[in-house]
Amino acid sequence: MRGASLKTRRAVPFAMLLVLLVLAAPCTVFAGNATSKYKGVSYSRVYDYEYYTTETTYGKRYAGKPEKAIAHFVRYGMKRGEQAIASFDVKSYRYGCPKLRRELGTDLPAYYMHYQKTGYKRAYYRKRAVGISEMQEAITKYGKVELKSIYDYNYYVNRYPAVIRKVGDDDRAVLKYFVTKGMKKNQTGRDPEKSEKASPKSAAYKKLKKKIKSTHSFDGTGLIVCIDPGHQAVGDYSHEAIGPGSGTTKPKVTSGAYGHWSHKNEFEINLEVSKKLRDELKARGYTVVMTRTTHNVHITNIERAQFANKSKADIMVRIHANDIDGASSLNGVFCYAAAGNNRFLSQKVITRGQRLAVLLRDAQAAATGQRKGGNFYENDMTGINWAKMPCVIVEMGYMSNPSEDMRLANSGFQMKIAKGLANGIDQYFLEFT
Ligand SMILES: [Zn+2]
Repeated sequence: MRGASLKTRRAVPFAMLLVLLVLAAPCTVFAGNATSKYKGVSYSRVYDYEYYTTETTYGKRYAGKPEKAIAHFVRYGMKRGEQAIASFDVKSYRYGCPKLRRELGTDLPAYYMHYQKTGYKRAYYRKRAVGISEMQEAITKYGKVELKSIYDYNYYVNRYPAVIRKVGDDDRAVLKYFVTKGMKKNQTGRDPEKSEKASPKSAAYKKLKKKIKSTHSFDGTGLIVCIDPGHQAVGDYSHEAIGPGSGTTKPKVTSGAYGHWSHKNEFEINLEVSKKLRDELKARGYTVVMTRTTHNVHITNIERAQFANKSKADIMVRIHANDIDGASSLNGVFCYAAAGNNRFLSQKVITRGQRLAVLLRDAQAAATGQRKGGNFYENDMTGINWAKMPCVIVEMGYMSNPSEDMRLANSGFQMKIAKGLANGIDQYFLEFT
């Protein structure tokens, strides 16, 4: 191809060539910028048209079609982890940046965008943008148990390459596989020539096996929790059906309680705790989706449940605080779940929902020292009836009680609630997976 174009050039008279060059130059510059942009977003740090259409299998198909090339890269190439510029390889970036990996998991396009927006500016990230071929600082702690004496990610996946095909090239998922499947089969997780403890026959290996069982250690990798921070800044008191196909209706979303001592709205406290719970669950490996992360939203209770359905959540936890007029001495935590004869839900969802309600209440009470109230199992909770998975409303405490209102608004106390609820969620999945 190159030889041919040189020949043509030689045939063109010199003056004409000059004119062509002058005309072509600005066009080339323009084309260079335009072809690394897609729908107004620039991909210039992670994508180069020349590189993509000459160096990659899929990109080659789009040689001479700059717009189609970038569209293909953004829509499919990033998900597949294709390298599209010499200076950025998403695999190296992901392997080399353990902190980022905790945050972004296996969401490859997010790594490209991280580099494009901020990573390229910082030496730490630039150094890791190419050239790293092994997972660095892979997770070795499962639940509460440290396993590095018997487990090394790179050794394990080299020895058992089928694991990556099964669970993906993800350090959390591989460790979970090692603990839940590999250790049961006495697989070797670390080079026994380097450390005697690594041998499945060693006392250390057997001891860790026992410890995982006795501490009820659990890792949430692969599980999806939907958190619904109850209410929103402005309620909507028009009605919606309490369950699919039901003629009974209730307000779409109310504005919730107000704490006369903390001077906080329930929707604020709910979101504060929800964010802490989200962070705690993510640190334990769970995937977390939230129905809202700000106050100025309009999401009805049906829409909240449908969001959990669409997100394919394994459970839904709705965070609320209670308020009872004229009963300022009432305090403590309790939950709502569906009743046994609920006509909108399957028996399995009902049973598990009630179990989740017990575990959440008990775990929060254990973490905070609050009183355990009696749970309520009811059939007129819109958000529970529309959700296709076990769904529980946690009433974290009473904002009508002066001291509980103050505690619920306190950041340290909220942290205790979040840890307690996360323990309850761990316990639930220990029982049901
Ligand atoms: Zn509420």
